[in-house]
Amino acid sequence: MQLFAIFGDPVAHSRSPLMHNAVFKHSDYKACYTRIHLKDGTKLRETFFNLQLSGANITVPHKEAAFAACDEIRGFANKVGVVNTIAEEDGKLIGYNTDADGFIFAIEEFKDIKKVLILGAGGTAKALAVRFLEENMDVTVLNRSQGRLKFFDELGCKSASWSDFELSSYDLVVNTTSAGLKDDALPAPKELIEAILDATRYAADAIYGKVTPFLALAEQKGILYKDGADMLLGQGVLANELFTRKQIAKQEIAKYMRHSFLL
Ligand code: NDP
Repeated sequence: MQLFAIFGDPVAHSRSPLMHNAVFKHSDYKACYTRIHLKDGTKLRETFFNLQLSGANITVPHKEAAFAACDEIRGFANKVGVVNTIAEEDGKLIGYNTDADGFIFAIEEFKDIKKVLILGAGGTAKALAVRFLEENMDVTVLNRSQGRLKFFDELGCKSASWSDFELSSYDLVVNTTSAGLKDDALPAPKELIEAILDATRYAADAIYGKVTPFLALAEQKGILYKDGADMLLGQGVLANELFTRKQIAKQEIAKYMRHSFLL
C-alpha cells in the first residue's frame, strides 16, 4: 500500500485527498492519500521520509520550500522554481509543477486571451506567468508588496505594487493571492479591483470551493468567470499520472476526479 499526502498551511480545505482517493479506489490501485498540516516548510523533506510517502502535493505556502527540498527537478518546475508535486524515485525526491498546465486546461473556453493581469506574486503567479509568456501573452503582475516582483521583471512581465499600478485593459484577470481563502478579503483595495474588473473580459480565481469576494464582484459586474475547480482538476490529473507512473489512463483519472467533486 502506497501513501500519498498534501502538505499545506492551511490544508484542511484541500480537496486533493478526495480526488486522489477516488481514483485509487475506482481503479483498484493500492494507495491512500491524506493531508498533513505543515507549518514549517523546511521540515517537508524529513516529514516526507518519516512518513514513508511515495509522493505528495504541496500547497500554500510551501511550494518554493518544496523546490528546495527535492533532489531533482523535472520539466516546467525548472523554469519557475516552484514545485507542487513530488514523486519518490529510488529514495530520491523528484519535483514537478502541474499547476500551470492545469490552469491552461481550466480556461480553454475563454477565447482570444492575449493580455493578462495576474494578482499576486507567489508560487502560483510565477508558474502562470511563465506559462502565459510561453503562449506569447502580454503579462502584468500586480502584488501587495514590492519584494517578489523582481522575478517577474527579469522574466519580461510588467509589474507593479498597489501604489504604482497603472490601469490598462485586459482579456483576463487572475487572482492568485490567498485573499479570500480563509477570510473575506479582496486581493487589492476595493476601488482598484473595481477598476480592474471594469477593464477585463474574463476573471478567474485559483481558489476553489467558494465564491471569493473577488469572483462575487466579477459576477455582480456580469463578467464571465471561473473558480479554481477546473485548475485543481487539471493539476490533479497530471499529478496522479506521476504518482501512478501512467498505469491509469488520463481520461479515467479525470473521470473519477470529476466525480469526487460531487461528494
Ligand atoms: P503564495 O503564498 O506563494 O503567494 C501568496 C500571494 O498572495 C503573495 O503574492 C501575497 O502577497 C498575496 N497575498 C496573501 N494574502 C493577501 C491579501 N490579504 N491581500 C493581497 N495579497 C495577498 O501562495 P500560492 O501561490 O501557492 O497560492 C495562492 C492561492 O492559489 C492559494 O489560495 C491557493 O490555495 C490557490 N491555488 C489553487 C490551485 C488550484 O488548483 N485551484 C493551485 C495552486 C494554488 P505578498 O507577496 O505581499 O505577501
